[in-house]
Amino acid sequence: MRISAWSLRLTVLSLGQWFRNSLMREQLEEIRERALAELGDDAGDAQIEAVRVRVLGRSGELTGIMRRMREAPPEERPAIGRLVNEIKDQLEARIAALVEIRKREAMARSLNAAALDVTLPGARIARGSLHPVTLSRERMLDIFAAMGFEIIDTQDVEDDFHNFGALNFPADHPAREMQDTFFLPGGMLLRTHTSNGQIRVMERRRPPLAVVCPGNCYRRDELSVRASPMFSQIEGFMVDRAGAVTMAHLKGVLTEFLRAFFGSDTGVRFRASFFPFTEPSAEVDISCLLCKGAGCRVCKQSGWTEILGSGMIHPNVLRAVGYDPKEYQGFAFGMGVERTSLLRLGVDDLRLFFENDLRFLEQFRSASEGAL
Ligand SMILES: [Zn+2]
Repeated sequence: MRISAWSLRLTVLSLGQWFRNSLMREQLEEIRERALAELGDDAGDAQIEAVRVRVLGRSGELTGIMRRMREAPPEERPAIGRLVNEIKDQLEARIAALVEIRKREAMARSLNAAALDVTLPGARIARGSLHPVTLSRERMLDIFAAMGFEIIDTQDVEDDFHNFGALNFPADHPAREMQDTFFLPGGMLLRTHTSNGQIRVMERRRPPLAVVCPGNCYRRDELSVRASPMFSQIEGFMVDRAGAVTMAHLKGVLTEFLRAFFGSDTGVRFRASFFPFTEPSAEVDISCLLCKGAGCRVCKQSGWTEILGSGMIHPNVLRAVGYDPKEYQGFAFGMGVERTSLLRLGVDDLRLFFENDLRFLEQFRSASEGAL
């Protein structure tokens, strides 16, 4: 091997002899030859660096020769200086080229290591699904859309007029009290129902109107089995020329909706009730989903479950949005999305919808793929 031969030669030439050798050119050629031999194509990073330090380094072989320049006859000194520079340039160029080659090889190796094998099975990505309440709301809206209702979103932050006044709530109505409503600075509040949607839409549009307004509502309730400080509702209304939309249409639309949502064999009944914004008003019940009307603990043996409120829009509400109640007439209804979902999915605790426990939510995974 070349390197062993060189080591042997260095051992043979004692340092004393080497320094006394006035034939510096010969020494320089030896340095060059040895260095180039060591900087072969297969030289690794460590070897390249070792040669660089030994030959070109601050106390390397070439510097050693320069220091001993005065030992050379004066007429030979310029030629020796040029030779030193030539060797220095040559070795530096060789080292730079080798370093570049090693760098490219390292890059190629790392690219190879990172190469993608498209035939390997992929990592399984856990698939999310929509929240059961979202799924229920979308299903409800789909049914209304199929009946020709427009879907319009309205605002959560509302003023007293659009949440209460225009809906014919008297000034002293208990719903307006601090313990029921989240009031905000500047006379604003978080809407307590989606009925503000009725007012907002009717204010800027003229009949005929068939609209559903989904959205979140807020009341100062503690989270419990049956109540939550935030919940969602769907408000719906249909308004047209007086006589064109009647209580019969209200019953037809809601019966159609409830049977589409809960099943075609669902019993539906209307009970007279009272709301400030409708006259006459009706609460709507469906036959108990658990006992199918026979009577059980859930329906308190009645066989019926209350599901939504409805009625003909009160003349004062029509006046509040600038409609003449002699000219226009319509009906409105509102229902809680969580409560309706709860009944349909057979869930007995409202809190489950808000806790986002995956063990609960994942039960509706298959539902999100079409079964719900
Ligand atoms: Zn029952």
